[in-house]
Amino acid sequence: MRFEYAKWTEIALNGDPFPREDAYAILTDRDIDLLQLAAAAGDVRIARFGRKVQVHQINNIKNGLCPEDCGYCGQSKVSDAPVRRYPTKTEDEIVREAHEAKSQGVYRYCMVASGRGPTKREADALVHTLERIREEVGIHTCLSVGLVDDETAQRFKDAGLNRLNHNLNTSARHSPKIVSTHTYDDRINTLKAATGGGLEVCSGMICGMGETDDDILDVAYALRGFEAPSIPVNFLVPIEGNPVYDFHQLTPERCVRILCAFRFINPTAEIRIGGGREGHLRGLQSLALYPANSLFVEGYLVSRGDAKRKAYRMIEDAGFEVDGVWDRDEIERGFELDDNPSVLNPKTTLLQIERGED
Ligand code: SF4
Repeated sequence: MRFEYAKWTEIALNGDPFPREDAYAILTDRDIDLLQLAAAAGDVRIARFGRKVQVHQINNIKNGLCPEDCGYCGQSKVSDAPVRRYPTKTEDEIVREAHEAKSQGVYRYCMVASGRGPTKREADALVHTLERIREEVGIHTCLSVGLVDDETAQRFKDAGLNRLNHNLNTSARHSPKIVSTHTYDDRINTLKAATGGGLEVCSGMICGMGETDDDILDVAYALRGFEAPSIPVNFLVPIEGNPVYDFHQLTPERCVRILCAFRFINPTAEIRIGGGREGHLRGLQSLALYPANSLFVEGYLVSRGDAKRKAYRMIEDAGFEVDGVWDRDEIERGFELDDNPSVLNPKTTLLQIERGED
């Protein structure tokens, strides 16, 4: 079979439904050349987003203490993972961290809280926090707080929230193998509440949880049905002791193929490389920027900015551009010694000389 990469680009650019058998081939057929595939997906991405890469920062505003049993999650009631457990951060802390995120070029500030969904009291507090972020910071926002009903979604929207995140995570068929305390339909209903309340939907999946190729395509096409403008594609970060652990399904090449399939099926969506980027894509992270136009970095306060520096550097090295205003000096200061400590990166040497550290 001869593959018509340019035809795939054309179908996607026209907004036509992408043939499922072609998407299946992208995931499975080794005769499809990875570079030509990524270039074809890249044409779709560049037509929509240019060479810009949106960097989204996650802030876990509440960690652990979750009564749900999502098998992949270190915060679930069935996980023994030694995660830091803390109740919801204070409003001042969340607002201050939003300021910091904005000053570092972060495009969107994503607040994530563990749990089944917000109680009335928690929703009240979130509404007030969102109002303060809108008035005092002015940054795009996204909230991920579990299951949300119509009224709560509307209140978040009125308080200034742009987007609600709720991932489908996997297909309806595979979902019962991943979680028992809520259903796939519960997740769909949350997405409906968000769109009904006028919020944009951010919803994606976690790959590498024992799903089939058809499960991946089911999610990609379901999100097309929702016209989801934002699709994070996560790659399972296995946590030892969790029920959903390590299926050895992912290679860097497979991750890129998955991202390309999502790009062709959802040509106008922000396709975001989510969790597991460094570990699963490894040396193909730059290639993944052809289908994907966005990525997550972990919370600055946890990583002390290092993850952000590495991500920005990778983006620029690949000829892309961070979408936002950021402090280049801070990034430059992040250049490190090579792995071999006796060999200095030339740029590091210059900076050290400037600082009188030679
Ligand atoms: S609801 Fe969220 S925090 Fe709770 S177990 Fe599931 S993924 Fe983890």
